[in-house]
Amino acid sequence: MSGRAIEDLNEDGPVTKMHAPIRLEYRIGAGTAQSRFLRGVAEGKLLGQKCPVCSKVYMPPRGSCPIHGVPTEEEVELPDRGTVTTFCVVNIPFSDLAPEVPYVCAQVLLDGADTALFGLIAGMPAREVRMGLRVRAEWAPREEWTYNLGNIKWWEPTGEPDADYDAYKDYI
Ligand SMILES: [Zn+2]
Repeated sequence: MSGRAIEDLNEDGPVTKMHAPIRLEYRIGAGTAQSRFLRGVAEGKLLGQKCPVCSKVYMPPRGSCPIHGVPTEEEVELPDRGTVTTFCVVNIPFSDLAPEVPYVCAQVLLDGADTALFGLIAGMPAREVRMGLRVRAEWAPREEWTYNLGNIKWWEPTGEPDADYDAYKDYI
């Protein structure tokens, strides 16, 4: 039906919006680099990949360096601790699956990585989360691990002093 026809049927004027629920089911092929990463996650390992030109370590790896366009075949196991570079406090509940508000989503730069992972911060009041906070992964029980970064339930403060801004300013 054309827009004109819709207008003709509406005695109160043109239709300016409509409700159209849409659902799309799809599968994504993880590809070689992400498959290796997810197999590592299933074993409790965080495997990044290093660019042979600039030595940047991508986490999670994409299989190539977007700056140099070369494969990143060297694998680097990274520790499950790092630094919060940026974060946001979520105050609006939007899903039954989400934690109770307020909660914090953050970018966590693992030690030795050049790109940050997205994750939840817990184990401290939301208002105390800050840039530079040192955190470590809280893993789900071993028997629940699968090929999913959800194996890490959240990131908790390590108690270490905050990282200097200079240490992560280039990753924000
Ligand atoms: Zn590179």
